[in-house]
Amino acid sequence: MIISIASGKGGTGKTTVAVNLALSLSNVQLLDCDVEEPNAHIFLKPEIEDVKSADVLMPEVNNDLCDYCGKCASACEYNAIVVLPTQVMVFPELCHGCGLCRMVCPRDAISEEPREIGVIKRGRSGNNVELVYGLLNIGEGMATPLIDQVKEHADPGKTVIIDAPPGTACPVIAAVSGSDYCILVTEPTPFGLYDLKLIVEVLKVLKIPSGVIINKAGIGDKNVYNYCEEEGIPILLEIPYDKKIAEYYSEGLPFVNVIPAWKTRFAGMIDEIGGEL
Ligand code: SF4
Ligand code: SF4
Repeated sequence: MIISIASGKGGTGKTTVAVNLALSLSNVQLLDCDVEEPNAHIFLKPEIEDVKSADVLMPEVNNDLCDYCGKCASACEYNAIVVLPTQVMVFPELCHGCGLCRMVCPRDAISEEPREIGVIKRGRSGNNVELVYGLLNIGEGMATPLIDQVKEHADPGKTVIIDAPPGTACPVIAAVSGSDYCILVTEPTPFGLYDLKLIVEVLKVLKIPSGVIINKAGIGDKNVYNYCEEEGIPILLEIPYDKKIAEYYSEGLPFVNVIPAWKTRFAGMIDEIGGEL
């Protein structure tokens, strides 16, 4: 199973859930796709076994072959290549490295050169969780190709947990696409509800079944619960607003390691999801 963990907004406890869930399962792999700010490794403290550069292929135009026909610019969905009367300009910060311009060029004037956008690190925690995470270079805007490359490490022989970036934009869609199920982490506040509604709509379009974990249960109001009931979205688990859990978090301690009863709850939740699927 591939299970992604998402939330419409940051700070709801998405990574806490991803890490604690991974630690509650056996034969598991955690892919941290929050490549702008990965932090699952802070809690899992893995021994890093492999670091490799993540590249995208940038077009490079041979002016001796180019006749400035403009076909490459017309084909590019991202306006990343512009053809002037005697010059072709490529904007690396817009280019997704899809290779379409090279394919459509009738004069074979485009070659491709790798450009590093970040790194991918792979390691294993003491609890035998395999962790793969991407780290986007500072100032780099191309998160989605790096997310795609992190996901290429998914091991079909394991339960794969994907920690998605916050929000509802392209990087989230890249992270959750292809998941069998998406766990949405929210908090019972008006902000939590607003952002939950956005991500639920995204998942409807992607046709990915979902359920909700309510973090900091006990604060706020009942509107999140009412919304889930109206939409027929199951509430999978409630994590109470508990000072002790917050303290463990601030110390970088996954709470399932300190309160093992939570391991049973997380593992039971995955069994239920598996049964439902
Ligand atoms: S499609 Fe090829 S020949 Fe035409 S402008 Fe682009 S690079 Fe030049
Ligand atoms: S590789 Fe793709 S995104 Fe980049 S310039 Fe060519 S068509 Fe545009």
